[in-house]
Amino acid sequence: MSIALPRFIIRDRAATLIDWGVVLLSFLSGVLFPAPEVYYTALLQVFLIVTVPLLLFSYLIYRFSEQNGLRIQGVRKAMPPIAREVFGTVRAMFIVACLAAWPVGLYRLGVPTGIAWTLEQMGLTWWMAVLEMYVGIVAIDAITYWKHRLLHTRAFFAFHKHHHSFRDPTPFAGFAVGPVETILTFWPLLLICIPEAKHFAPLYFTAIVGFVFLNLYLHCGVTFGWLEKVLPRLNLNTSAWHNVHHSHTNMNFGEVSAFWDRLCKTTRAHYQLKKKAAAQ
Ligand SMILES: [Zn+2]
Repeated sequence: MSIALPRFIIRDRAATLIDWGVVLLSFLSGVLFPAPEVYYTALLQVFLIVTVPLLLFSYLIYRFSEQNGLRIQGVRKAMPPIAREVFGTVRAMFIVACLAAWPVGLYRLGVPTGIAWTLEQMGLTWWMAVLEMYVGIVAIDAITYWKHRLLHTRAFFAFHKHHHSFRDPTPFAGFAVGPVETILTFWPLLLICIPEAKHFAPLYFTAIVGFVFLNLYLHCGVTFGWLEKVLPRLNLNTSAWHNVHHSHTNMNFGEVSAFWDRLCKTTRAHYQLKKKAAAQ
């Protein structure tokens, strides 16, 4: 007699299989590149250039924040699962490198890409470039919010579970997301392969570095008073805000700002109001 497995276990196992399939396919995509040796060299270099500083800064921010910040969830009762967080981050950065090796490899081959180093190449004045960057960030905020909502549906949550296994995260968990989620988040890197999709490198890379540091802060598990005041003024999320998403799961989905959460009534305050109304 065979016992049927509960549906959520089947879903989890299928998601694990798909996740590792995505890792393999991302790596094998280089076979299709015009010069695979250029692709795989770029992959290795991008992986190291991204992963080593990311882990180093995660470590520095972890040490600094644990010693100097105000803990959001109280004193830690146990050591955080840093090894698992690092594993998730390294796996995600491997996929990021697989994606980024496409535009980097093409650039090295001298093939036109969307990367522009000067305003002349962009065909824009400086204020137009800044405005374009701002519009890009607003678009990324919308895309990441709705991607996150999708990952919280019953059908997709198995792909997001890894990130939520860190209920009281450290900076090492900031990028510890599953392979499918990594593709859903970082696919815009492939847009750089299109010469018409111009990216102004000085602003583009500054924004990426800025958001890496913001994401590390959002996951450090502590607050710093001055940052919690400054970030909302810039319409950016805070550590206290995002920590609620890890401790309470189905609220505060915004990954850049709280705009969509407020509009769609998915903040913690809205959740508490709904709970109160249901109780009455
Ligand atoms: Zn989530």
